[in-house]
Amino acid sequence: MRRSVGVAIAWVVGVAAVLGPIFLSVHLARRQSLEVEFNRLGVYAEDALSRAEGTALQQTEASEKLEKAHLPPCSPQEIALMRQIAIDSDYLRAIGRVSGNELLCSSLGIGHPLPLGPVTFYFRAGTSLRTNVRLPLAGGQPLMIAERDGFASFIGPSVPIDISNEVPGTSIALFSASTGRLVTASGQVPQNWRTAIGKSSSVDFVDGHSVVSVVRSSTFDLVAVAAAPRATVDRTVREFALFFVPIGILCGLALAAAVWYLSRIRLSMPGLLRAAARRNEFFVEYQPVVDLPSRRWVGAEALIRWRRGREVVRPDLFIPIAEETGIISLITRRMLAHVAADLRAMLRVCPDFRIGVNLAAHDLQSPATLGLLRQTLRTSGAAPSGLVVEISERGFLQGESSFQLIGAIRDLGIDVAMDDFGTGYSSLSRLGALKLTHLKIDKYFVEAIGTDGATNQVVAHIIEMAHALNLQIVAEGVESEEQAQFLVSP
Ligand code: MN
Repeated sequence: MRRSVGVAIAWVVGVAAVLGPIFLSVHLARRQSLEVEFNRLGVYAEDALSRAEGTALQQTEASEKLEKAHLPPCSPQEIALMRQIAIDSDYLRAIGRVSGNELLCSSLGIGHPLPLGPVTFYFRAGTSLRTNVRLPLAGGQPLMIAERDGFASFIGPSVPIDISNEVPGTSIALFSASTGRLVTASGQVPQNWRTAIGKSSSVDFVDGHSVVSVVRSSTFDLVAVAAAPRATVDRTVREFALFFVPIGILCGLALAAAVWYLSRIRLSMPGLLRAAARRNEFFVEYQPVVDLPSRRWVGAEALIRWRRGREVVRPDLFIPIAEETGIISLITRRMLAHVAADLRAMLRVCPDFRIGVNLAAHDLQSPATLGLLRQTLRTSGAAPSGLVVEISERGFLQGESSFQLIGAIRDLGIDVAMDDFGTGYSSLSRLGALKLTHLKIDKYFVEAIGTDGATNQVVAHIIEMAHALNLQIVAEGVESEEQAQFLVSP
């Protein structure tokens, strides 16, 4: 049950680890491309506004210049001046004189007077605008006519908004800020985009399927709006996603395969271990125990190994699962059978040899363990002193039943060692109460001998304490002469 929960958690974490970055990246890509689109449209709106401002400025200057000249209305001199101003202007096609709704004369030449039709609206500063005037003089193409103090400027409606459209579907429009009337536009621009600017100088937003940027002129009665279909942004995100999502899916599949593989191993491990016990795939390797003063080999520790096909499975991969599931008792049984046979052979060569066997916490809960140990002694023909039972600190902490079993083992005459001492949490005061005979110092502390580490001093203290409790000491993992010398020195 606990294992399947673990596997479920692994799946959730795995899926989140894959999907999380994809969602985040797509989200960031969306924000990024929206930002890029706002910038592009903002530049268009600013550009349209600066052209419109330039046009308004030249129109104002033209009116002032003609008024100051005080030439007779529509005289050849005044028409000549109008032509000069129009030629010098970037934005004004022509200049003329207006009275009421009639064009009296202009820089375009003869054929006056001409009806212009009614004024469309007035800007805040008093300039009037006719937005769609067609004059035979101008070849019939539509013109805007801005008029002030009787002087009119002819403006091509596309001049302020003539922006090279790299992205199809981009719309641009100019409005009068005060009246909200449309000056000129390319594409559809609804009024609510213009009003969205409120009192600020610029605003960017998404409205339905459109991305919109609005800018207000600081000098003239003008607002520019640029908009593009949101599909442009979505396309950028899609291109990004097309690139990124397959990578994410591949990583996800790899991760999922790894999770599946590992969970399968973990879930199938108990079955494999049971089968291994049945097929007798476990064998024993021996770690020598050396008497340091005499350097004699006085015993060995039996270590369980699992040969699965051609490979030997690492103990840390299967021992924890075997302990968790109780299969360890099957393995212990197998190990003791091996030890009995090996010890029998060994005693013929060396009568006082002894073998240490590791018992798991689970073994200490089982009454059968005592019988197994008796059986081992019988089969091997060894005296009780031929066996040492090794129990980890955790094993000692299992409670009353294991306590009694340890006592019964001692009553058999078998020595009991505390294994891996120093890595658990057993209190020193309790050490005396246990019926121990040996203390095995963990490899970790032996490795620290001769180094500068803080654990360096610990070995000496453990030895001192063991002596005080009258315990024999076995040091695990002695690899160098220096360690051996240190341990044997008084
Ligand atoms: Mn051990």
